[in-house]
Amino acid sequence: SARVAGCGRVRVFDWSMRERAERVMDLETNMRLGLERGEFILYYQPIFDLATLVPRGVEALVRWRRADGELVSPAEFIPAAEQSGLIIPLGALVLAEACRALTRWRAGTLADRSFFMAVNLSARQFTQPDLVKQVITALRRENMAAGDLKLEITESILMEHPESAMLKLRGLRELGVGIGIDDFGTGYSSLSYLQRFPIDTLKVDRSFVSGMEEQGNRVIVRSVVSLAHNLGYDVVAEGIETTAQLDELAGLGCDLGQGFLYARPMDESALLGLLGQHFGPDAPQHLKTDCV
Ligand code: C2E
Ligand code: MG
Ligand code: MG
Ligand code: MG
Repeated sequence: SARVAGCGRVRVFDWSMRERAERVMDLETNMRLGLERGEFILYYQPIFDLATLVPRGVEALVRWRRADGELVSPAEFIPAAEQSGLIIPLGALVLAEACRALTRWRAGTLADRSFFMAVNLSARQFTQPDLVKQVITALRRENMAAGDLKLEITESILMEHPESAMLKLRGLRELGVGIGIDDFGTGYSSLSYLQRFPIDTLKVDRSFVSGMEEQGNRVIVRSVVSLAHNLGYDVVAEGIETTAQLDELAGLGCDLGQGFLYARPMDESALLGLLGQHFGPDAPQHLKTDCV
């Protein structure tokens, strides 16, 4: 970097800023190409019942599979997609593919079972004026039950424009779509607002779960579970990595959970393997009794 002094001020030029801007532009161009080439695929992480360890649904998590086989994490491209607006076509692709996938599984292993598909929505996706219409279209195209779809949004999306968020959530709830608050506890929710929104699930952020050996985090998790239950919501714990965390959460009455301990996000064929173990014809009876 170079230091340029003038007008009594000292400014530090960071030459890598230009490099960074170029990289963002490269990323955008490459994402655009990747979208055209079908390089964005879905992974699925099972969400399971903490009491029975039976999978109840999955969260769809997008991945970018580059031509060279590299799998790029959403943390690296979702922010750029959000900024450039590419999140709109990407999000539409994710929603459509998630609905198609669940419908495929329903024709096989998951026939007549209750099982949900959770899909993440970013701020820009959520604020689209025709979001509700898009969701209706996606459900109709697959003839999918609205109750099988859960949309995940963060607290900050709700709190930024509470009035318009309220209208949108009502529209989605009227369809029967589930609404989960993602990464709960990391934003700045007003609890009085929160209870007025028509939501049905709180997802406790991984940071509280992974820090559960600490008294403070344990108290937070316990409070979120009881808050959620008192408001009539389900609770999903994110990022369960140890049996100690699993036992603790189950003991607190947390309903559902996801994490590397049980299963990492996986591609469709691996997921079908896991579902087959639980629900397939060769599944042990004690796992199968739990069908709905
Ligand atoms: P998220 O919605 O909170 O998703 C959970 C993230 O936690 C996933 O990261 C998942 O792989 C990770 N995770 C789950 N269990 C564990 C665990 O036990 N330990 C650890 N260390 N991590 C765990 P992923 O797939 O990298 O996604 C990151 C974020 O990117 C997501 O956070 C979500 O905000 C966003 N994202 C992913 N897919 C989409 C999408 O299709 N659309 C939008 N708008 N955002 C997405
Ligand atoms: Mg999520
Ligand atoms: Mg989350
Ligand atoms: Mg998260």
